[in-house]
Amino acid sequence: MVKKTKIVCTVGPASLQVETLERMIRAGMNCARINTAYGDFDRYRLVIDNVREVADVPVMIDLKGPEIRLRTDKEHVVEKGEVLEAGFNGETISFNHNFIDKMNVGDVVFIDNGRIRTSVTEKSDGTLRLLVEEGGVISDGKGVNIPNKQLTIPTISSRDLKIIEFAKEHEVEILALSFTRNAKDIANLKSAAEGFKGAVVSKIENSEGITNFKEILNASEGIMVARGDLGVEIEPERVPLVQKSLVRRCNQAGKTVVTATEMLESMMHKPTPTRAEVSDVANAILDGTDATMLSGETAVGEFPVESVAMMARIALETEKVARSSVEDRGFVNISDTVSRSIQRICNNMPLDKVVTLTRSGYTAKMISRFKIRQSIIAVTPEQMVKKQLELAYGVVPVHYDYRKENDRILAVACTLYAMKMIEIEDTVLFTAAFRTKKKHSSNLIEIHNIKELLELATK
Ligand code: PGA
Ligand code: MN
Repeated sequence: MVKKTKIVCTVGPASLQVETLERMIRAGMNCARINTAYGDFDRYRLVIDNVREVADVPVMIDLKGPEIRLRTDKEHVVEKGEVLEAGFNGETISFNHNFIDKMNVGDVVFIDNGRIRTSVTEKSDGTLRLLVEEGGVISDGKGVNIPNKQLTIPTISSRDLKIIEFAKEHEVEILALSFTRNAKDIANLKSAAEGFKGAVVSKIENSEGITNFKEILNASEGIMVARGDLGVEIEPERVPLVQKSLVRRCNQAGKTVVTATEMLESMMHKPTPTRAEVSDVANAILDGTDATMLSGETAVGEFPVESVAMMARIALETEKVARSSVEDRGFVNISDTVSRSIQRICNNMPLDKVVTLTRSGYTAKMISRFKIRQSIIAVTPEQMVKKQLELAYGVVPVHYDYRKENDRILAVACTLYAMKMIEIEDTVLFTAAFRTKKKHSSNLIEIHNIKELLELATK
């Protein structure tokens, strides 16, 4: 059995060696994520080269966008009652973005994933005085959260711009934008990334992102439920239901969704996870997520390969009962309607595989959202689409250009048979757009016994 849930692995010092990546791929990794909060361009280049040497999987570059981070040259402990002076222009303690105009006395500022809690006691001369209410360790690059404030921070920093150029140069498949607040952020990213051919994934990690989710979903190719920051920006007890709601809405729209952060956190230092972590991964799959993500576990943890293997085992077990929550609503487009019929056919007859001929990947994702038992082979002439479909639940993407063929279904069947992806005894459902050039209009369903179909090819 091949697992259907896809695994995104953040690649860092613990995993960037070819040999480790090879083992992670064998264990079930489907996508490599580069978190640009850490590392430099030399490292990003090395990650991309090494990943592409071992497998044909997409690379996701995670831009920090409007994410706020602390800059300081000395690591030190801060204690309750202490007052910190923080500026915006490279002072001993400073922030990477300037948002002083929106800050008021009494505002709460969290540092280091909410571990350190401070409040503003004074604002003067371009600095903030922060009273420490809960202490901790301050060091360079620590994340800062200022919940429920609409700060006027630009979508893209100057460093992000360089990373976008780098992504274009290396034909990276996916750009993720941290702290996406609204559709304008995505429009800004897309115009800054003009010429970028990959997909854009919006990371939902604060209340603005939740409030504006509908427009963000519309503007993006995929979504990440970024629970790390989300659990600081909103009350942590709200995160599970927000996750369920976002995942369900992504499924309804046929957009790829990744559930992220702390999934197997304890495996950073231990070869086995806690029971609660195992349940968390399983529940994300039951919610309908396409992919689950590993962060520190694979980037800097002691057990990167074991973490992937564990996640794959949980996926295989849970997928046995995964069900679709997609609702029947009004007419959307032909692919939407046809994908619903395909779900019914898959449940009603003994069918081994579904094959979709898909140029943009849309129909493949529309079928994927129904969590059917059969694997979905998505054949696409676009190499970029092929790699992006690597993230869609239950989809096995294949790159093959069928466009010049007279009988496309037959040509695809022969190709997949030669690749050993379909077998002679299989009964396969094919879907494609026939006699139309319109978008989202897979309008044909053919069901064939492969033996009988291949006999036509030899006539
Ligand atoms: P990060 O985003 O790892 O870039 O912080 C994920 C999250 O916040 O959950
Ligand atoms: Mn984050």
